[in-house]
Amino acid sequence: MGKVSEILASVCKENRKNLLEPEAKTICQEYNIPVTRFEVAKKEEEAVKFAEEIGFPVVLKIVSPDIIHKSDVGGVMLDLKTGSEVEKAYRTILANVINHQPSAKIFGVLVQEMAPSSTEVIIGAIKDNQFGPTVMFGLGGIFVEILKDVAFRIAPVTKQEAELMITEIKAYPVLKGYRNQPPLDINAIAEIIVSTSKLVTDHQEIKELDLNPIMVYEKGAKTVDARIILE
Ligand code: ADP
Ligand code: MG
Repeated sequence: MGKVSEILASVCKENRKNLLEPEAKTICQEYNIPVTRFEVAKKEEEAVKFAEEIGFPVVLKIVSPDIIHKSDVGGVMLDLKTGSEVEKAYRTILANVINHQPSAKIFGVLVQEMAPSSTEVIIGAIKDNQFGPTVMFGLGGIFVEILKDVAFRIAPVTKQEAELMITEIKAYPVLKGYRNQPPLDINAIAEIIVSTSKLVTDHQEIKELDLNPIMVYEKGAKTVDARIILE
């Protein structure tokens, strides 16, 4: 069995519906979707060791099957620059989570590369009752949430269709470059759309997928948060 099917089967066996971020990101990696480097620490010293291996600055996040919105419970700490900042953040995150949601099971703390901030895009997928797996693309923040400036396609999505999805949103000039803003890596986004489409087509047990946000650069892109929900 492939690595992706193995993860999905073990989540199913544990009667979970929501994948942990490290599980979702491992699946992304199997489909060549670029994600931030990450390791799951079970102890404070381990978090420091992983941070040193990954390279500062790092981000720490709670890993719990009971917490979907990690920042809502104080479960995300960004831009940690030293070992002692990592130690402190590790303790703060655990204290915040215990305080906000005492019943939450805690699997560990995710240590990950801090992606330089840039234009954020969102790639998502839902399994529509009528059309099956459907892929969504839009820019992060107000563009999707308030302006509903998004493009949808029924999977499978070809590279050409993915490129059309990107050019058809109103915010496209933000990606294409304007005035002295350089063009961003549209090809990298199109590749992630195609990979996402392939993932949800291959694995129909996925009900929802959310790569939010993906930082897009002049060269390349990086997924900083990934969520997968099973049927
Ligand atoms: P939540 O479960 O609350 O959605 P996220 O993992 O999305 O938690 O983290 C919250 C925010 O922190 C993200 O939307 C992003 O702006 C920022 N962030 C998270 N991880 C990283 C990272 N590795 N590098 C840079 N920014 C990050
Ligand atoms: Mg998020």
